[in-house]
Amino acid sequence: MDYDIIRKSLDIKAGSNMPDYEQAVADFSWRHAKSLLHGFADGKLNIAYEAVERHVKSGCGQKIALRWITKNGDVCDYTYADLSSLSSRFANVLDRLDINKGERVYTLLGRVPELYITALGALKAGCVFCPMFSAFGPEPVQARMKIGGAAVLITTKALYKRKMVSIRAELHELREVLIVDDSESEGSRDFHGLMDATSDQFETVAMDPEDMALLHFTSGTTGMPKGVVHVHEAVVAHNITGRLALDLQPEDIYWCTADPGWVTGTSYGIIAPLTNGVMLIVDEAEFDVARWYKNLSEQGVTVWYTAPTAIRMLMKSGSELPAEHNLSKLRFMASVGEPLNPEAVEWGNEIFGMPFHDNWWQTETGGIMIANYASMDVKPGSMGKPLPGITAGIVEKIDGGVREVSEPLTIGELALKPGWPSMMRAYLDEEARYQKCFVDNWYLTGDLAVRDSDGYFWFVGRDDDVIKSSGHLIGPFEVESALMEHEAVTEVGVIGIPNETAGQIVKAFVALQSGYVPNEDLRLELLGHARKRLGPAVAPKEIVFRKNLPKTRSGKIMRRLLKARELGLPEGDISTLESDEK
Ligand code: AMP
Repeated sequence: MDYDIIRKSLDIKAGSNMPDYEQAVADFSWRHAKSLLHGFADGKLNIAYEAVERHVKSGCGQKIALRWITKNGDVCDYTYADLSSLSSRFANVLDRLDINKGERVYTLLGRVPELYITALGALKAGCVFCPMFSAFGPEPVQARMKIGGAAVLITTKALYKRKMVSIRAELHELREVLIVDDSESEGSRDFHGLMDATSDQFETVAMDPEDMALLHFTSGTTGMPKGVVHVHEAVVAHNITGRLALDLQPEDIYWCTADPGWVTGTSYGIIAPLTNGVMLIVDEAEFDVARWYKNLSEQGVTVWYTAPTAIRMLMKSGSELPAEHNLSKLRFMASVGEPLNPEAVEWGNEIFGMPFHDNWWQTETGGIMIANYASMDVKPGSMGKPLPGITAGIVEKIDGGVREVSEPLTIGELALKPGWPSMMRAYLDEEARYQKCFVDNWYLTGDLAVRDSDGYFWFVGRDDDVIKSSGHLIGPFEVESALMEHEAVTEVGVIGIPNETAGQIVKAFVALQSGYVPNEDLRLELLGHARKRLGPAVAPKEIVFRKNLPKTRSGKIMRRLLKARELGLPEGDISTLESDEK
């Protein structure tokens, strides 16, 4: 493969994409970021064109775009030209089924090629792509399909039977169900049969930058999930943040371990890598320590984007396995989704010879907003600095408005100046809820954080998770990190529980490494360890052991659920909950 062609076409120079952070911030403009894309006449564009077609047009169609590793370990490659013709076929299928521009195309699939083909084909045709986790049960599936007005669903025979049959009659807007592993039957059609019967040529629909492209769902603390709307213009941010925060280069073999049912798996598991012309690894199987090290070494992964829960599980499994693998190709590792403990960053240095680079963003921001960059010193435990083009601040609430706090290390709400391309454009049909996020020209993230005097941001907790004890504001992450340092601990969730004298006291739920027995001695040892590390005002007053903690499918510890269960309150929306032990 002649990488110079693709480098030239994407305007990517040799060496690091961002050798100097301060310089990049000074030079950055969104207009320039947009100019790196192909686009169409009159300012129109289409995410799928930028992800696939432009590479084919510039003569790089034979480059491998996606390497799929099946559950049983077989490998199947798709070039950019393959993705182009398959997504064109799917766009033609939608056309044939009379699914029109703007209509919502849903998937309920594992990590199989059809998911990626559907995403690209739907976008090409101007439809809205909405991926759902294949592990959702019928209720969360129904809620998401109803809220978004699903017109067509692509799924498997087994998932259809288990999750759709009982709810289908309720979904009045759903016109078509396509099954990827079955022939046509009552109420559904054969995905591949339709694909084979259509042309592999399709002219990508030129979209207005503000046309809706992606619909992701995020859980509210109560009530129904919120449908977060992203538009085609978001690709400007996906592309540039992939370069600046993940340092993606055309030679890279890139593995994003997130499922596309979660926003990371779409923004950085499909769009950013493809717009940057990299080779993407997709593993159909679920997390498995041995398999992951094998993937990293056998596939020669160079850039790896994963999450703290997975990193902690790898840490727990020790250093023998990684020593048996050749991991020398790896050059950049990043993490997102949850606070990354300093120990995990250090462990990266020890095992892989490089730190994990934590970065921060949310479904609503559509792309990475704060990150530790390849060319910058990582401060373990910090989320890093704002992306060029992003203004982040710490604000406090005053008189119905907010004010930025300038004093370093003051806890406040993390806020961003609106206006970047991948910012959500709406919560579907919930205008008031959407408007509430914006105060005094800041977008309020709902997270508490501090900024240090070097401009690095440090996560404190979700606004709802922060504990106020005897006048102290305590971030659960600080307490969790201290407990995580203890060798017996594998996972911790910390919450505040009401207390007459202190207002709230800190309570920790701890899961232990295998080989450790939950007993009173260990409990006292952990309490002592936390007191030594944090001091009595911040250390937990109570520690209880759990086999495992309630987590979302994307690996976030659900502190609000620990709290609801502790206090006997309603559990709220638990559609993203992975099975756990109460
Ligand atoms: P979601 O919209 O499901 O991706 O969740 C976004 C939330 O995850 C953020 O508002 C944070 O509370 C949390 N989060 C994401 N990345 C990080 C990070 N690097 N450190 C701490 N919390 C994070």
